[in-house]
Amino acid sequence: CGIVGYVGHRDAYPIIIKGLQRLEYRGYDSAGVALYDGTDINLSKTKGKVQELKDKAESEISTAGSVGLGHTRWATHGVPNDVNSHPHYSNSGNLVIIHNGIIENYEPLKKELTKRGYTFQSDTDTEVLVNLIEDVKKNEGVKLGKAVQIALNQVIGAYAIAVFDKTKPDEIVVARLGSPLAIGVGEDEFFIASDASPFIEYTNNAIYLEDEEMAVVRRGKKVKVRKIKDDSLVDLYVQELQL
Ligand code: GLU
Repeated sequence: CGIVGYVGHRDAYPIIIKGLQRLEYRGYDSAGVALYDGTDINLSKTKGKVQELKDKAESEISTAGSVGLGHTRWATHGVPNDVNSHPHYSNSGNLVIIHNGIIENYEPLKKELTKRGYTFQSDTDTEVLVNLIEDVKKNEGVKLGKAVQIALNQVIGAYAIAVFDKTKPDEIVVARLGSPLAIGVGEDEFFIASDASPFIEYTNNAIYLEDEEMAVVRRGKKVKVRKIKDDSLVDLYVQELQL
């Protein structure tokens, strides 16, 4: 299982596909990609290999865009099939999420969200999380980063996540607890991945999130890393990667 993301000025799609291929060693049963083309999110996902995703995506969606997310899934909740593959949309269609790990308390959360009118396409714990984030964002009137933080404080489990909101298309929100997550820092561009292999040829500056940390990665802004629990700022340690 692996995650890849990009926000910058290059074509995101080839970076994401190549990145997913480099993360194949981690093992997976399905793969998917979501790209923002300047107006909308285009999403393609499939059970099977990254090569199958590539063939499917290139025939069914526009692969244009300089912001995107990619995922390889190791199924824990819901069988490996196209629908359960990531990324997952929220009900409004504005948010997409990729997630490695497990949301242990997804059942009570799902029940509560269902009561509030949310519906679910997949059997995954992940689709519950993206709708919880959407619900928090709507009810509390907060920005995406804050909504992710509030939602994660209601979650028991393990995760590396990346969340994109098409109403705020210059940023990706990432967080980690128990699954690895690295941010590659370039010139006015950022890479997100489970390890540095997807972005090593573009930048040698990386920030490795620690457990219980999150970051809002925004074009043209410096990365700030915060503690999910108490919102305190973490001293940034940008590591120099060795080729
Ligand atoms: N629990 C999630 C699912 O089953 C994520 C699995 C993973 O780590 O890839 O969809």
